[in-house]
Amino acid sequence: MTDLQIAKGVSLQHISSIAEKFGVDPYNIELYGKYKAKLPLNAINREKAQNSNLILVSAISPTPAGEGKTTMSIGLSEGLNRLGKKSTVVLREPSLGPVFGIKGGATGGGYSQVLPMEDINLHFTGDFSAIEKAHNLLSAIIDNNIQSKTNSLLLDPRTIGWKRVMDMNDRSLRQIIVGLGGTTSGVPRETGFDITAASEIMAILCLAESLSDLKKRLGNIFVGYTYDKQPIYAKDLKAEGAMTALLKDAIKPNLVQTIEGNPAIIHGGPFANIAQGTNSVIATLMGMSYSDYTVTEAGFGFDLGAEKFFDIKCQSAGLTPKAVVLTTTIRALKYHGGADLKSLTEPNVEALKKGLPNLEKHLENIGKFKMVPVIAINKFISDTEEEIAVVKALAASKGIRVALANVWAKGGEGAEELAKAVVDIVSSKESSFKPLYDWNSSVTDKIATIATEIYGAEYVDYTAKAKANLRKITDLGLDHLPVCIAKTQKSLSDNPKLLGRPKDFIITVREIEIAVGAGFLIPITGDIMRMPGLPTRPSSEGIDINDDGEITGLF
Ligand code: ADP
Ligand code: MG
Repeated sequence: MTDLQIAKGVSLQHISSIAEKFGVDPYNIELYGKYKAKLPLNAINREKAQNSNLILVSAISPTPAGEGKTTMSIGLSEGLNRLGKKSTVVLREPSLGPVFGIKGGATGGGYSQVLPMEDINLHFTGDFSAIEKAHNLLSAIIDNNIQSKTNSLLLDPRTIGWKRVMDMNDRSLRQIIVGLGGTTSGVPRETGFDITAASEIMAILCLAESLSDLKKRLGNIFVGYTYDKQPIYAKDLKAEGAMTALLKDAIKPNLVQTIEGNPAIIHGGPFANIAQGTNSVIATLMGMSYSDYTVTEAGFGFDLGAEKFFDIKCQSAGLTPKAVVLTTTIRALKYHGGADLKSLTEPNVEALKKGLPNLEKHLENIGKFKMVPVIAINKFISDTEEEIAVVKALAASKGIRVALANVWAKGGEGAEELAKAVVDIVSSKESSFKPLYDWNSSVTDKIATIATEIYGAEYVDYTAKAKANLRKITDLGLDHLPVCIAKTQKSLSDNPKLLGRPKDFIITVREIEIAVGAGFLIPITGDIMRMPGLPTRPSSEGIDINDDGEITGLF
C-alpha cells in the first residue's frame, strides 16, 4: 500500500476533538475546514512548557532519499502516547519543491503519518504563500525605491542581496534581470528567485516568539548599501509593518492529527543548511505547553540540523532538550561503507561495517552537547537480522541505548522499545544540555569550533571574499551573532563525495552572508542550491485528481 492509500484508510477525527485532547479549548482554535486548525498564540504557556521533555530526532549523514526522521518522530510520539505519556510531535511544513521533485512530501510514511497528508503537502493553511508575499513585498519596495526620484535612499543596486521567492523548483528563475522596458518600468538590475523555504523570512518566522518580535526581526533584514556605503535595512524602507500584517495568520502554528489520532503541530519549514532547519519556536513552545513529551525533528544529519537546533534555536528561545534520537538506517550505513545507491536493498555486512564510523562520529558529536542519545534503527523490509545485529553490537560496545524501530510498518506499536529508551534517558536525567560555543566568541572561533569539533576538519580556510565579509560583519557590529554554516548534507565534510567519516580535510568558507533579521551569519561552504530544479521526470507526472476531488500519486 502507498502512503496515500494508508492515509485514506484512516477515518479522521474532527480537529476540535484533537484540540480538546491536546488541551486547548476548541472554541479558541481557528478552523481551516474540518481537519486543520490554527492555534492562538496566547495558548502558549511558558511556565508549563518548561516541564515538557523536548526530544530531538536527528540522523546520521543521509542518503539522497532521507533516512526517515519525520517518520521516526511521528512513530515515536505515537509510541510515547501508547506508554501513557502525553506526547505531541512538532514538525516542519513540506515545501512544494520536493513534493513535485524527487523526494516527495514530508508527512512521514507507512503507518507513521500526519494527516490529512494531501492538504499538508499541498498549500496546507497557506503559510508558505504568506511568507512568499511578505518576501516579495520587500522586493517590490526595494525596486520601487530605486525607481523613485523623491523617496530614494540611493541604494546601490549592485549591493542588493535580497531576491524574490516562489515555492517551486524552477531553475529558470535562478538568475534574472528585472526592470527592462524603459523609464517607467524600473531600473534594470540582476537578481533572481530562491525557493520560499530558503527565504530569510522563513528563518525569521521560525525564530520569532511574538508578533512584535517578528516585526523587529523583519525590520532588521539587511538589504544592501547606499552609494556612499551606508547599510540599508528593511526598516529604512518602512517595510516591516506591512510585512508583519501579511504574516498575521502564518505566525500561528497549525494543529493536525497523526494516524493514531494524537495531536501534531506543523509549522514553518526553513532549510537545514542556509537556515536553522527546524519548525518554529512558537510551534515547539505550543507543543511543550500541553505535553509531557514534545518530539521534534531537525533537518538532514546531526552535523547540520541538530547542531543548529542546539546552538541557534535552543539558545535563542531558551529551550533545554532532554534526549536525542539518532535515526540510523542499515541502507545509509552501507552507502557510507561504499555500497552503490542502487544496491542498498541487498545484504552487505561488509559495507555496513565499513560505514559504521559515520554513525560513531555522530554519536561523539551528540556527546559534545552533553546529550545522551538512543540509536533508532529505522527498520526497512530489506534489513537482515545479521545486519541489525552489527549495529546493536556497536551500540553495546559503547554502552549506548539502541532500539529497532518498526514505525513505518507498525506505527506506534513499532516504537515501544524506542519510547521506553527515551523515557529511561529522561527519567535518569543523564542529559545536561550545553551548547557547543558561546555566541560572544569571535566569528572565526565559532566557525572553527563547529568545523573541527563537529565536522572533524583540520582547519578552516577563508577565500578573499569571505575575509572581506568578515571585515564587513565587524564594521556592522554583528560579531555576536551565531553562525549557521551552509554545507552539504551528504558528507560530514564540505565535499559531498567524502562519505563515511572523512579525515584530514579542510573546510573552505567561500563567503559569509548576513541574516540579521533571522539573527545569524551564514558562512557558505561548497555550492549551496537555493532554487532547485525539477528532475527529468518530476513526481508531478504521477499526481492526479478525479471528479470527486480525490488525489492520487502523492507520496
Ligand atoms: P527524513 O525526515 O529523514 O527526510 P522521511 O521520514 O521523510 O525522512 O522519510 C523519507 C522517505 O522514506 C519517505 O517517503 C518515507 O515514507 C520513507 N520511509 C521512511 N522510513 C521507511 C521505512 N522504514 N521503510 C520504507 N520506507 C520508509
Ligand atoms: Mg523530514
